[in-house]
Amino acid sequence: MRKPMIAGNWKMYKTPKESLAFLDAFLPLVEGHTRDEIIICPTMSSLAFVVEASEGTNVRAGAQNMHWLNEGPYTGQTSPTMLVSIGCRHVILGHSEQRLYFNETYERVNLKLKAAINHGITPIVCVGELLAEREDGKTEETLRTQVRAALRNISSSEARRLVIAYEPIWAIGTGSTASPEVAAHAHAIIRNELASCCGEQTAQNTRILYGGSVKPENISELMAQDGIDGALVGGASLVPTTFANIVHY
Ligand code: PGA
Repeated sequence: MRKPMIAGNWKMYKTPKESLAFLDAFLPLVEGHTRDEIIICPTMSSLAFVVEASEGTNVRAGAQNMHWLNEGPYTGQTSPTMLVSIGCRHVILGHSEQRLYFNETYERVNLKLKAAINHGITPIVCVGELLAEREDGKTEETLRTQVRAALRNISSSEARRLVIAYEPIWAIGTGSTASPEVAAHAHAIIRNELASCCGEQTAQNTRILYGGSVKPENISELMAQDGIDGALVGGASLVPTTFANIVHY
């Protein structure tokens, strides 16, 4: 059984004060909700505050990125040990905005994934094709390459905690969501590649989230698809009532 996960990716939005105001409004709206795992990924400056404010609730805080080493002369980076030390046990890795604007590479996503697993942090690894790749009929190839690269030298037991997010780049922040059928087809490709990398059992146990313009209006039809196990929500996770409506799909 794959427990659905609804994760909010706040990107570079919300100060600590705004993050806490969000939680004040949001936590009562989802109190007692156990069907789905609920994760909120704020900016690094708000993370420790969100971890603390959500302690003892059904909401967990995650980071949006991390380094793979524990410490060192790497200006601007945060390590897995540091995330664990504040009680953060989830991290988004390989988001397309990291890949596109900050030169995130396949190799680094793989190193970070390994580090997350070694530190008991649940990684949410993002994959997804560009519009041009879809139009050229290269979606399947792109997804398989990204999954394979992220999972290089990861054993099936190490992949136990893995979560993948399918985020077609043309759907992120654009308002044009992938249709449930298009998303389900991509999820099937990803699950198939997972099976060839880490075995059928891992493929069946791994949650694959959909991300890209998820809203209260389209979450139900997405979640009704067989292989869609949750959502990674950007813009629509910034407003407490809107995100709560998504959680209650
Ligand atoms: P969006 O972003 O929901 O605003 O499209 C999703 C994401 O980038 O994770």
